[in-house]
Amino acid sequence: MSHHRDTQLIHAGTPPFVQGHGPVNVPVVRTSTVRFENSDAYDDIRARHARGERVSSYGRHGMDTHRALEDAIAGLEGGNRAFLAPSGLAAISLTFLALLSPGDHALVVDSVYAPVRRLEQTLLRRLGIEVSYFSPSQDDLDALIRPNTRLLYLESPSSLLYEVLDLPRLVQIAHRHGVVVATDNTWASGHALQPLALGVDISILASTKYISGHSDLMQGAVVVKDEALARRIADAHDGFGLAISADDAYLALRGIRTLAVRLAQHQRNALAVAQFLEAHEAVGRVFYPALPSDPGHALWLRDFSGANGLVSFSLPTADVAAARKLVDSLSLFGLGASWGGYESLVQVAAPERLAEHSYWRGAEPVIRLHIGLEAPEDLIADLAQGLAATVQASVPQRRAAA
Ligand SMILES: *Cc1c(COP(=O)(O)O)cnc(C)c1O
Repeated sequence: MSHHRDTQLIHAGTPPFVQGHGPVNVPVVRTSTVRFENSDAYDDIRARHARGERVSSYGRHGMDTHRALEDAIAGLEGGNRAFLAPSGLAAISLTFLALLSPGDHALVVDSVYAPVRRLEQTLLRRLGIEVSYFSPSQDDLDALIRPNTRLLYLESPSSLLYEVLDLPRLVQIAHRHGVVVATDNTWASGHALQPLALGVDISILASTKYISGHSDLMQGAVVVKDEALARRIADAHDGFGLAISADDAYLALRGIRTLAVRLAQHQRNALAVAQFLEAHEAVGRVFYPALPSDPGHALWLRDFSGANGLVSFSLPTADVAAARKLVDSLSLFGLGASWGGYESLVQVAAPERLAEHSYWRGAEPVIRLHIGLEAPEDLIADLAQGLAATVQASVPQRRAAA
């Protein structure tokens, strides 16, 4: 019987009921050595592990807590196998290195999470793996696929400006050429979008963000449906020796239980803030796919069941120095990397990273907010005081322009 997604989140990967001493949560099972009754049993498990089965002959392969988290994440994404990684970026590199060999080519969306470019410029380039970037809104994907293209790597909505991609269309083109499609699904956290149901082959999560939800965990996951792909990723995962602690697996499982309610509240708060920003005289564009004015709104409505707390906006009359002053003047927003925790965050989107996005070629500064679970009225009041100072400071500049 298939339940609603919210019900699945609560029950996925929970331990079997044991009269009198069954805990509600799978306990933290920590170990290095796994012991066996005799040599035959040990050999059997080792052989099964080598075939890519989900069994453990050693602590590095993970124990009960890891298995439960794998089940929960695979269920969330609608996949058959989930592989855990020590960070979101490690899950991304695992995917590239599991699929690509020297001489292969990958096409990557130009609005991709910036550290993926560094992975390409350093490690992938040295290994003779070619990467080119494309603009989903301007380029004809068909024409960019080469005979040696093996991977189409996407992210939707993308980093900083949240460009929503037409995943089914891109998948259709890639599959026509026999190209595997992977997408970074961190924005939707496996909850607001199931890429595998849209035909994507590999879904990647930075569990560091909303799955953790409490800014106290680094973790990633790679989820697949297809057996052959699972085997390929299992081999690379095993070879790299990627292991996460059982304590961290436990924290991620705990986060998953409240993912749906947290995301719904992040979305409500973020929408209120986005509407406030949209009406403000100092603000140019507001980037938030759940906002009807966002260019990705129609695609978001079609494919997604929800949004999150990420809102970016531009300041057409300010320069980067004024944007930095605004950021520094906020009292409820922490300044720092990452997002997905319960608290609000802010940063000026690095201009050199925005320049790589063909989606938007503005010269004005962009500020990225993560809207947390505070009362939105307080966040809006904080932004209002910061923006008022920015407007005042930029009045002479606007007069000069007029
Ligand atoms: C944060 C992030 C990652 C990387 O996750 P880490 O756990 O920080 O390595 C990957 N993709 C996206 C879209 C992210 O926002």
